[in-house]
Amino acid sequence: MEKSETKRLIPVGISSCLLGNQVRYDGGHKRSKYCLNVLSDCFEFVPFCPEVAIGMSIPREPIRLVGNAEAPRVRGVKNPDLDVTDEITAYADTVSQEHQELCGYILMKGSPSCGMERVKVYHENGMPNEAGSGAYAARIMRNNPALPVEEEARLNDHILRENFITRVFVYSSWQEEVMKNPSLHEVIQFHSRHKYQLMAHSYEGYKQLGQYLANEAPNKPLNEVLADYILSLMTHLKNRANRKSHTNTLMHILGYLKRDIDSETKQDLLDAIEQYRTSKVHLVVPLTLLKHYLKRHGSDYIQSQAYLDPYPHELGLRNYI
Ligand code: SF4
Repeated sequence: MEKSETKRLIPVGISSCLLGNQVRYDGGHKRSKYCLNVLSDCFEFVPFCPEVAIGMSIPREPIRLVGNAEAPRVRGVKNPDLDVTDEITAYADTVSQEHQELCGYILMKGSPSCGMERVKVYHENGMPNEAGSGAYAARIMRNNPALPVEEEARLNDHILRENFITRVFVYSSWQEEVMKNPSLHEVIQFHSRHKYQLMAHSYEGYKQLGQYLANEAPNKPLNEVLADYILSLMTHLKNRANRKSHTNTLMHILGYLKRDIDSETKQDLLDAIEQYRTSKVHLVVPLTLLKHYLKRHGSDYIQSQAYLDPYPHELGLRNYI
C-alpha cells in the first residue's frame, strides 16, 4: 500500500517483540511480517514489553504462571522465589492509565505476561493446571474490556483478522467522533452509521442496542450511557460475522435500492448475493456491486453506513471472507 501523508494512523499497542525488538527472555524477537509490512500502513504501533519495563534484564530467567488459573502468580521457572506478579500488574495499570489513546492491542501468544488466552499455568508442584491469560494481558483487558485485543498468531485466520481490524476501526471512530465531544445525540448518530455493521455480527445486538438508545439511554447519566454503549457494541462485534449474517445484511441493504433499479439489475444483485451465500465468491463481489448502485441511487443514510467501507479497501480483507 502507498503511504498517505495525511492519513491518520490509529494508535495500537503491541507486544514489543512482535516489532522485531530483541526483548525476549532469550534475547530474541518474534517479528511479525503482517504487522510490520501491512498493518503499519493503518496503525501506529506503540510497543510495550512489560518484563523489560519492570526492570528484568535481556536475557533473563524465564518466568511462568503458577497457581490458580483464574489469578495465577508470575514466578521464575528456576527460582520460584522470584515473583513479579505485582510489578507486572502495576505496569499494566500504568499503561492503561497513560495510553488511553490506544484503539487496539496485538499480543504475543503463549507468554506468561502478554498471552491473551490458553497460556500454560502450572500447579505449585510443577504439574500443568488449566490454561489462563498472561498477567499483563489479563490486567490490560480487565482495565478496558471494550478495547479490541487479539493475538498476532490468530491474525493468520482471515475471519479473526477481519474481525479484529473491523473492531479497531470502529473503536477508533468512537474515540474520534463521539468521545471528543460526547452527547447522547452523537451516540445516536454513531449508532445510526454502524447499524448494518452491528447487524452482520449480531442481529440480537442490533435490536438490543437500538432499544437501549431509544428507551433507556435518555433517562440515564451520559457517562453511564457512553460506557454501556461502547462495551455492548464492542462485545457484540466480537461475534464472528458469517456468510448467513452477511447475506442477511446485504439483503437489508438491497432493500434500499429496490424502487430505483430495474428488475434486471435487481436480479444481478440477487445472483451475486446468492453466489456469496453459497461460497462461490467472496464478500467483496456482492458488496462492490451493491456499492456501485448505492453510489447512484442510495440515500445519504445508507451511503453513510460503516459496513460498506469499514477499513481501507487496500487491506483486501473482504477478498478472503
Ligand atoms: S513480555 Fe511480552 S513483549 Fe516482552 S518479550 Fe515477552 S511477549 Fe514479548
